[in-house]
Amino acid sequence: MKIWNQIFDKILVLSLKESEDRREHIRKEFQRVGIEDYEFFDATHYSSQELIDIKKTDKVYLGPLCFRCGQKRCACENNYLTDFQIANWLSFIRMWKHIIDQNYKFVLICEDDIVFTPQHQRIIFPLLQKNQLRAYKVRFDLPLLIGMGGAYHPHKHLSNEMSHLKRQNVMCNPCFCLNQQMAKLFYETYHIHHTSDHFMHIEIPKRFPFVQHLMMYPWPVYELSFVPGMIKFKSLVRPKGQSRRKVYQDFLIISPLQSLQTTLFTKLFHFLQIPSHVNYQVKKVDMTYRNYYGTLNEYLLMNEEEQEKYMFLHTYLFTYGEEKDKEMIEKEWNQQSFYELVCKKYQIQKEDYYSFVQTYIKERFPKTSIVDLSSFESCEKYLKLLTITLQRNKNVERMYQLLS
Ligand SMILES: [Zn+2]
Repeated sequence: MKIWNQIFDKILVLSLKESEDRREHIRKEFQRVGIEDYEFFDATHYSSQELIDIKKTDKVYLGPLCFRCGQKRCACENNYLTDFQIANWLSFIRMWKHIIDQNYKFVLICEDDIVFTPQHQRIIFPLLQKNQLRAYKVRFDLPLLIGMGGAYHPHKHLSNEMSHLKRQNVMCNPCFCLNQQMAKLFYETYHIHHTSDHFMHIEIPKRFPFVQHLMMYPWPVYELSFVPGMIKFKSLVRPKGQSRRKVYQDFLIISPLQSLQTTLFTKLFHFLQIPSHVNYQVKKVDMTYRNYYGTLNEYLLMNEEEQEKYMFLHTYLFTYGEEKDKEMIEKEWNQQSFYELVCKKYQIQKEDYYSFVQTYIKERFPKTSIVDLSSFESCEKYLKLLTITLQRNKNVERMYQLLS
């Protein structure tokens, strides 16, 4: 049917190259509804190098606060941007650029698991006629996006009401159409701080009042993957079993020195000449408020999955300086088995241990603050930060007042 290509000058299906079963579904579905001229747009895979690279930049917000509600601890269904969600972003960013580069004016964008309802023709074709859109006061020179469907919902999909458009910000990633102005606005303003659908369908229309975000009713399209009892495709985009939540922690205190684990505060406060009763308070507070607190060795010995579970607001590296650290490690080596376990796990030689952990910290926790235990100023600064972070606790506040 020519009508599809009269309305849209491009039809793009976002799909992973590897998802042959989904592509086969779309080929059949498009044939059924008469879409002949379309293109598969290869989606970014969650294990791609592109994704690994962008995660190292400031463009992606990776916590520790929940990206949905900004809280430390919350009940949101997922509280950090997963690789799947970031990959989805990268696909859309490339797609917006493609639309701009190719100078497409009006594009239909579909995911690869959609189905058109039996009444889609009476809804889509008349509503997208230019004179009809003008009747809705649509301006073609301003960003325009029209949502056509989402998760299956009998009231929205099967209703026999008159077809119409509504100005509404609704998530509709499975199927929507947009003009080039819209693609440009997305491309020029994006920041990966929330999911791509939230950005496109909620954030942008809110931020820019001139954006025209409409929904088609009844919804002419639904996603097959979310209809109960229907075929489920092998999911290549959502890694199975991957946790969608991370555990927020205030601190990761890291030190190559094993002995600092239990005696850190004692040493620190001894160094700062704090009376012992204050010392006790701090210990108590520490016991109550710490969630993860250990040396780097303990972290290194966790398995990958456990390590991945945590997001830390503060990472502190405690050190006495390379020379002294190395000296202490040498002394502790035989008393503490952790050093050897770490060397064994990461297949490194004893003499490479120190440089290994330095590199590891730089890569894994690039924002780590260094607390030089041999300098009073450095310790004091750390103590202040610690106090601010734990300010909810009156004991710490009182303790700090005692100190200052
Ligand atoms: Zn949340």
